[in-house]
Amino acid sequence: MRVIMLIDMDYFFVACEEIKRPELKQKPTIVGADPKEGKGRGVVMTCNYAARKFGIHSAMPISQAYKIKPDAEYLPMDYSYYESKSNEVFSIIKTFAEKVEQVSIDEFFIDLSVTLSEASDALEYAKRIKEAIATRAKLPCSIGISENKLIAKMACEKAKPSGIKLVRGADAKSFIAKMKLGELYGIGSKTEERLNALGYTTAEELAKASIMSLMENFGSFGIELHNIANAIDESEVVEAGDAKSISREQTFESDTSNPAEISSSIRRLASELGTELESKKISFKTIGIKLRYSDFSESLHGRTIRQTNQPGQIAETALSLFKENSEGRRKIRKLGVRVSGLTSYRSQKSLF
Ligand SMILES: [Mg+2]
Repeated sequence: MRVIMLIDMDYFFVACEEIKRPELKQKPTIVGADPKEGKGRGVVMTCNYAARKFGIHSAMPISQAYKIKPDAEYLPMDYSYYESKSNEVFSIIKTFAEKVEQVSIDEFFIDLSVTLSEASDALEYAKRIKEAIATRAKLPCSIGISENKLIAKMACEKAKPSGIKLVRGADAKSFIAKMKLGELYGIGSKTEERLNALGYTTAEELAKASIMSLMENFGSFGIELHNIANAIDESEVVEAGDAKSISREQTFESDTSNPAEISSSIRRLASELGTELESKKISFKTIGIKLRYSDFSESLHGRTIRQTNQPGQIAETALSLFKENSEGRRKIRKLGVRVSGLTSYRSQKSLF
């Protein structure tokens, strides 16, 4: 049995600001775009619970937040400060777990299967981690615990704000049964819409769908959808530097040889990869593409450049690999972009 935790910082950017100015705790505070007296563009990045009481939430247009609460405290992003706090949290968590996988600036997975034997220990252990982060980094967090990353993530959502929630493996499926598909980790709003159109609204309903019918509609992603709905997630906690490669793949709705469609897909996959690498502070030196044709044959192509953390290099290299290796009108079914030769640059000085 595995023990996986997701540690997710609560209202992270504003919580960081509250360290500098504790009086903000009592005041609705928003970090994000400049509201420019209601004319500002851009969105709320994070807000504290004092602001949430008024219905303000992250990703809301900043102009709308201003309409609701013009006298709230509006602050610009102080990214280098948040990054230094994130590094501090990482180091604290690292004293509790051998491997820490940073998912974003304020989310961390750890695998405690070897450290902990009993699930009851896990709750105690999570409390200690939470306290250590609160006293040393002065930041609040929530922790989800389960046997896999998917359910740990969902448990953490329910634990917010500032809670700890354990979902045992035997309860995992019923825990997500009534959830809407879009609430599930790994199912985006586009996929949710398509699933709704097929008649599936909740995890429980999707769990009953046959893998074959899901694959007819979603290609190999259908298998993943089936696993998510059934609370299955075998993926491991991987710390930056341990992973041999990171990749992104896309199966086309219908097989294509259209260069414009393929190029735009390469750009999108490359940019997703770039975002992940940046958030995990990983540099790379080899870029590869994988082409699977409509007859299911595959070709792999790669190029090694110098070690870099420039995300733009991924799209540039992947596109030229495609130009050099695409076989004219042969239709492509699935496309993958991959980087390897990974190194963590966390310990290096920030560029800011
Ligand atoms: Mg968070």
